[in-house]
Amino acid sequence: CRRDPGEVEFHQAAQEVLHAMVPVLRAHPEYVEARILERLCEPERQILFRVPWVDDRGTVRVNRGFRVEFNGALGPYKGGLRFHPSVNLGIVKFLGFEQIFKNALTGMAIGGGKGGADFDPKGRSDAEVMRFCQAFMTELYRHLGEHTDVPAGDIGVGGREIGYLFGQYKRITNRYESGVLTGKPVGWGGSHARTEATGYGAVYFAQEMLATRGLDLGERRVVVSGSGNVAVYAVEKVHALGGRVVACSDSSGYLVDEDGIDLGLLKDVKEVRRERISAYADAKPTARFSARGSVFDVPCEIALPCATQNELRQQDAVALVKNGVLAVAEGANMPCTPEAVEVFRDARVLFGPGKAANAGGVATSALEMQQNASRDSWTFERTEDQLAAIMRQVHAQCRTTAEAYGADADDYVLGANAAGFLRVAEAMTAQGVV
Ligand code: NDP
Repeated sequence: CRRDPGEVEFHQAAQEVLHAMVPVLRAHPEYVEARILERLCEPERQILFRVPWVDDRGTVRVNRGFRVEFNGALGPYKGGLRFHPSVNLGIVKFLGFEQIFKNALTGMAIGGGKGGADFDPKGRSDAEVMRFCQAFMTELYRHLGEHTDVPAGDIGVGGREIGYLFGQYKRITNRYESGVLTGKPVGWGGSHARTEATGYGAVYFAQEMLATRGLDLGERRVVVSGSGNVAVYAVEKVHALGGRVVACSDSSGYLVDEDGIDLGLLKDVKEVRRERISAYADAKPTARFSARGSVFDVPCEIALPCATQNELRQQDAVALVKNGVLAVAEGANMPCTPEAVEVFRDARVLFGPGKAANAGGVATSALEMQQNASRDSWTFERTEDQLAAIMRQVHAQCRTTAEAYGADADDYVLGANAAGFLRVAEAMTAQGVV
């Protein structure tokens, strides 16, 4: 903390991992001696840069760009780019740190990194977003490469932004290096099922957790927070598996539709028209929009927080437990505060931390890299089958690892952190002090 003052989200993420490491380090004193934790907490490289660009009125704007290449023991740095006004170094470091363990947990050859900018794409024209992306890549390109560092999307960065970023990378380097970015549209190097992967994966993870108690998703009431990429495809998969999502949200408020969220309308509002979630309620009489309170006040059996960090607080967890929630799977990164996680633990609610529950996105990005490397394109079904298998494996690994370190198999927090750590620590030890 003394070394990185003010990086509160990074400290929060690191504390969760350090806490889970107690039984692991007791069993592995060699990792204490090799200072693996100290080395893990220090990024291999942090890049901060100026992003100057010109808006539609001809005014010069200046943003700050970030890329934190946190750990490359298992493969090229891999992790998304976030464009949001709240982005700062502490946020990028928390996300990059989480990414190390998540990526290790997928079993694939990818290291951990994250990046972004404090740019707000809301209300910006396509031309402004393009100019911003071009300016951002004009600095970042020198740090990237399919064997070096491979960014993807995150909040505020979807297919449109990835397209503009890729175009600028190609122009500067004069290389059609498909594998340098993932989350590309399917027509030119993207993978089927990548857009859907994080949301689908979180629902698969919830399904696996429920199955351990002989339960399933059929007919269950579900609440999803957010209405961006992860949220929309979580809704889609819940409905496909027979559950009913009755509420979702954005930063302006939340929406309840007891008929079940109409996916076509949701996609039209958020993906095509890029409007606020209230536009859904304007278009559908059975829905009501609320600008006050929390989406987690809506009674449900399954909660999928899919918006942003620390959105689900202690009082939200208390409300969910009071309303009989059975399982919570984090589609977003660290959406539940530590106090909220404690409430779920005390109430024996099944809780899937983001490192495990949202690992489907990065796992499918790694599948996209495989397709790019072999100049191949797999079908949607083949890719989704692999995603489902990876989520089953991640879930099983969390449970067996938790048990191996003396905890209950339901301790997915311990299981995910320990399993991810062990894979990275082994590679770091074998590679020497570098
Ligand atoms: P999007 O930008 O597509 O959507 C983000 C959603 O969250 C929007 O509905 C947005 O509302 C809401 N939101 C963002 N910030 C806030 C805030 N401060 N308060 C309330 N609501 C907010 O992003 P993604 O769906 O891609 O990402 C969502 C989460 O999932 C993030 O935590 C991300 O790190 C994580 N994640 C994403 C992966 C991916 O593949 N995309 C992979 C793994 C994790 P509004 O539009 O009003 O801002």
